[in-house]
Amino acid sequence: MSKNKIVTCIDAGSEYCPCYLAESDECITCSQLQGNSFCDCNWSGVCIYQEYTWCGMKKKTPREAIESEIIERKQIGDDVLVLRIGVSKTLARQLKQPGSYVFLRHPEKPMIFDVPMSIMAADAEKGEIAIAIHILGVKTKSLLACDDKILLKGPYWNGLIGYKELKNVTNQNVLVIGRGIALAPAILAIQYLLHNKNKVTFIIDKGRTGSAFINESIDALEIDRHYLNLRSTGGLEKLNQILAEGTYSLVYSGGSDFLHEVVKDRLSRLGRPVKMVAINNHELCCGEGVCGSCTARTLNGQRVKMCKSQIDIEEMIEGGNCNG
Ligand SMILES: Cc1cc2nc3c(=O)[nH]c(=O)nc-3n(C[C@H](O)[C@H](O)[C@H](O)COP(=O)(O)OP(=O)(O)OC[C@H]3O[C@@H](n4cnc5c(N)ncnc54)[C@H](O)[C@@H]3O)c2cc1C
Repeated sequence: MSKNKIVTCIDAGSEYCPCYLAESDECITCSQLQGNSFCDCNWSGVCIYQEYTWCGMKKKTPREAIESEIIERKQIGDDVLVLRIGVSKTLARQLKQPGSYVFLRHPEKPMIFDVPMSIMAADAEKGEIAIAIHILGVKTKSLLACDDKILLKGPYWNGLIGYKELKNVTNQNVLVIGRGIALAPAILAIQYLLHNKNKVTFIIDKGRTGSAFINESIDALEIDRHYLNLRSTGGLEKLNQILAEGTYSLVYSGGSDFLHEVVKDRLSRLGRPVKMVAINNHELCCGEGVCGSCTARTLNGQRVKMCKSQIDIEEMIEGGNCNG
C-alpha cells in the first residue's frame, strides 16, 4: 500500500509547514518533498511544495520554547499537579483543538527534560490553558519545582489517533472513555463533540490518579456520566452493557494502550461498525519528527513518526512502542 494512502501529517497546511522534514526529503505528506519527481499526495490543502518554494526552499520558523507564567498551581492528592498557565490568546485558541498538547520544561533544565502534556482546558479570551500532570519520573518531578515560571513549546496537535473521525461526527451518540490522567485531554474532546451537537456519555475511571482534577471542568457539561473501574470484571461488564445499549457512532478511548485494545475488542464484537479514536501514547521527545523516539510500525510494516502522523486506527499495531 502506498505510504500516502494512510498517513497524513497533522501539521500539513499549518503555519509550521513545511518543516525540518521537508528540508531533508522526509516530508510525511508531499511526494516531491520525499525526493520524488511526481506529485501524488492525498492532501487537499495548500500545496506544501509550493509553500516550500515560496519560502526559498526552506522550512517555516519552528516552534520555540517560551517562558510562561504559572497563574495557579494546585496539587491534588500525592501525585497530580494542575497548572493554569498564561499564554498568548492566539496560542490558547490554537490549543482548543482536541488532541492538542505542548512540551513543558523547568526553566533551568536542558531540552532533554521536555515532556509532552495534553491540554485540559484552553481559554482564548483570557489567554490561559490548564494542564493536569501525573508526577511519575525524572521529567515530571522536575515540573513540581516550577514556582511561577515554566518553559512551554507548542502548539502540537497529534495527541489523538483517528482525529478526523472525531472531527466529522455531528448529531450522533458518542461514548468517551477516560482513565487516570488521560481524563484530562477528554475534556477538550467532549467540548468539541458537544459543540457539534453530539450527545456524549462519559465513562470516568479514576485509574491511578483519581478523578478529582476534572470535577471543575465537567460540572457544567451536559453529559451522561458513569464512574467505573475498567480493570474490574464488574466495570467491564457495565462497559459491554453501555456499548450494547448505546447506539454509539464513535467511541473515544482515553487511557493506556491496554484500554485501547479492550475497547477495540469490545467494538469488534458489537456486530456493527463503530468508529474509534484513541489518545496517542507514543513516547514523544522532539515533536518535530526528527528524534525518532516515537517511530512505530503500522500493521502493513510502514514506519511512521507518531508525533506528527495520523494513521487509521485499524493500522495501529497492538502494543507498538506505546507506554501502556
Ligand atoms: C501526546 C501526549 C500527551 C500527554 N499528556 C499528558 C498529560 O496531560 N498529563 C500527564 O501527566 N502525562 C501526559 N503524558 C505522558 C507524559 O508525557 C509522561 O508520563 C512523561 O513523559 C513521564 O516522564 P517522567 O520522566 O516523569 O517519567 P518516566 O520515568 O520517564 O516514565 C514514566 C512513564 O511514562 C512513560 N513515558 C516516559 N516518557 C514519555 C514520553 N516522552 N511520552 C510518553 N510517555 C512517556 C513511560 O513509558 C512510563 O510508563 C502525555 C504523553 C503524550 C505522548
